[in-house]
Amino acid sequence: MTAPTARPYNFSAGPAVLPEEVLREAAAEMLDWHGSGMSVMEMSHRGREFISIYEQAERDVRELLAVPEHYRILFMQGGGLGENAIVPLNLSHRLPEAKVDFVITGSWSQKSHKEARRYCDAQIAASNEGVGAANHTAMPAPSGWQLRDGLSYVHICSNETIHGVEFAQWPDLQSLGCDAPLVVDCSSHILSRPIDWSRVGLAFAGAQKNIGPAGVTLVFVRDDLIGHALSVCPSAFDYQIVAANQSMFNTPPTYAIYIAGLVFQWLKRGGGVAAMEARSLEKSTLLYDTIDNSDGYYVNRVAPDCRSRMNVPFFLHDESLNEAFLAGARQHGLLQLKGHKSVGGMRASIYNAMPLDGVRSLVGYMREFAARHG
Ligand code: PMP
Repeated sequence: MTAPTARPYNFSAGPAVLPEEVLREAAAEMLDWHGSGMSVMEMSHRGREFISIYEQAERDVRELLAVPEHYRILFMQGGGLGENAIVPLNLSHRLPEAKVDFVITGSWSQKSHKEARRYCDAQIAASNEGVGAANHTAMPAPSGWQLRDGLSYVHICSNETIHGVEFAQWPDLQSLGCDAPLVVDCSSHILSRPIDWSRVGLAFAGAQKNIGPAGVTLVFVRDDLIGHALSVCPSAFDYQIVAANQSMFNTPPTYAIYIAGLVFQWLKRGGGVAAMEARSLEKSTLLYDTIDNSDGYYVNRVAPDCRSRMNVPFFLHDESLNEAFLAGARQHGLLQLKGHKSVGGMRASIYNAMPLDGVRSLVGYMREFAARHG
């Protein structure tokens, strides 16, 4: 899908690599979008040019993810962490008694839980916290979740960007006897798998991994969950107000939406989410196999059935070689492989825009490094 590139391969967890085709298109249109005489950055968000960009982007993402008509798609600001407050402000009416349950699977669900506690009675239904190397290395099986009755919602993070654990399937709360809506932070794997909307009340995703540049957050919210915001909820974050104004109650992040739209077009040309899923499987299998077949030179500690296809943390058996590994990687045109500071080691994020050749190049370098520093 992507033409061979002379640029280095960028494994950043986010803001992350974008398709080169999209960057070239944006560059070509920078000074004059489609003969309008304006850069997209210079357009009024209320003008017909930008409205057409916005509407196309919304249509395309709805098509890519097969989002049913009874879900609204909102293009918001505030990021994933903003939604950690915006969701309870919109969904936990009957404050302060509102009850919300969280499944803790890594840093991002932990942050969500901590923020929600400011607004409601937020408790932990399950957690994969462990000691040392066993911390956040497997997803807690839904059958063991201790969900309370009368919940406003249940929150999960479906792919933990830092710890590299992913729900291969999102839980079916109804089959667990829970009729509360499921809220999903899918920031770091959206558009890499199809979504079973029958299981979801609300899903949100910051753009800067699989969608586009930082600055826009996509929120998919079922109609019946709109219109319950607390009176203290800022108007700009009230889903009803945002939805009624086609995400333009206040000035939206227009350029980020435009680039996201180009990414959606690129995804459609490349075969959509099904093709991305197949490619993600191929890329992540290649990388995990290389790690697992390295005789312990490289280690990934995540349970195989919970391993993320997007974020692959791994450790060198001899951590004193970390700096040499990273410096050699940079020389080979392999960028931003350093692991998150909270876990250390390495992390390769292999989002949709990372070509298979990028992962081939990485595993080639890993084998070579192991042979040289064995
Ligand atoms: N959720 C997840 C899963 C993330 O990976 C991130 C960012 N890495 C966030 C939330 C926070 O996003 P933001 O910094 O845009 O608020």
